[in-house]
Amino acid sequence: MSRLIRFERTGGPEVLQWVEADVPPPAAGEVRLRHRAIGVNYIDTYHRAGLYPVPLPSGLGQEAAGVIEALGEGVAGFAPGDRVAYVGGALGAYSELRNVDARFLVRLPDAISFEEGAAMMMRGLTAQFLLRRTYRVQPGDTVLVHAAAGGVGLILCQWAKALGATVIGVVSSDAKADVARRNGCDHTIVSLRESVSARVRELTGGEGVPVVYDSVGKDTFMDSLACLRPLGMMVTFGNASGPVPAVEPALLSRMGSLFLTRPTLFHYIARRDDLLKMADELFAVVAAGQVHISVNQRYPLKDAALAHRELEARRTTGSTVLIP
Ligand code: NDP
Repeated sequence: MSRLIRFERTGGPEVLQWVEADVPPPAAGEVRLRHRAIGVNYIDTYHRAGLYPVPLPSGLGQEAAGVIEALGEGVAGFAPGDRVAYVGGALGAYSELRNVDARFLVRLPDAISFEEGAAMMMRGLTAQFLLRRTYRVQPGDTVLVHAAAGGVGLILCQWAKALGATVIGVVSSDAKADVARRNGCDHTIVSLRESVSARVRELTGGEGVPVVYDSVGKDTFMDSLACLRPLGMMVTFGNASGPVPAVEPALLSRMGSLFLTRPTLFHYIARRDDLLKMADELFAVVAAGQVHISVNQRYPLKDAALAHRELEARRTTGSTVLIP
């Protein structure tokens, strides 16, 4: 038996229900996992609200850390008692106990807590591919990071700084600007009172930046393009303010032969060896103290709706976890 969060219709946080269900023995290729901490990600709000449609009724959440209780047939490389974390697979991480496809699991190093593990798989692996694969940040680059005090944002800023970049972070308040500056941002822009592109031009001597990491989407897309230098890379990777409308390719030409990508973590971790390499690199920068995983909000699992309200109201910094 497991207690879990489920939703039968899409909508606001109020659609989330706290229910009980049996957990069958793990199928072939699965493990049964007792969750110790669960990651709350912005994508969970897209599933709940219907922006990313899923078959209903549905569980929620794709990231957690915990302890293996049982192995299904054919699972190799893991044993009951192992501390593990995962991102991906079927929705349902907002639960005390569940079966998970072993392909998504990574072993948690002893130095990383369950809370950190649950806070860093989705967000940390996203920072890894954005900085190391989508656009490979070089020492001396100046990079622009939106939602710089958020979950992905704080990891991006610290890691980009460790790679030798100058980091400009965009936030909505002075309090968040302080948080961003303590986590690798050299410059902060408070978007509610300043033009981001004007400040970026000022900070880069008119040149613009080689890459923009924009998770805000609709509200910031056009101004983000205006921050780029010729041949710059626009990385639009989230929809916190809503999805970006269609774009004419000729616009990219006019604005400086820009590159545009809309990446998703799940494509970057589709091959298990990529997942393991990326996780190793992430765990290494955390172990070395270059990236600190800020778990700044914790809620009991049954209060997932409150966690969503706070995240969507922009009242959070760093990562949020649910505790079963
Ligand atoms: P965050 O902790 O970053 O929370 C979202 C932040 O976005 C807010 O705190 C807020 O910061 C900012 N924001 C700007 N405009 C709005 C708005 N209109 N409504 C709400 N928030 C707004 O969340 P996560 O770290 O979980 O995720 C960050 C982003 O990265 C999300 O867009 C998510 O979808 C995306 N993502 C994409 C992945 C991919 O594979 N493509 C993987 C993982 C995450 P402020 O108040 O400072 O503006």
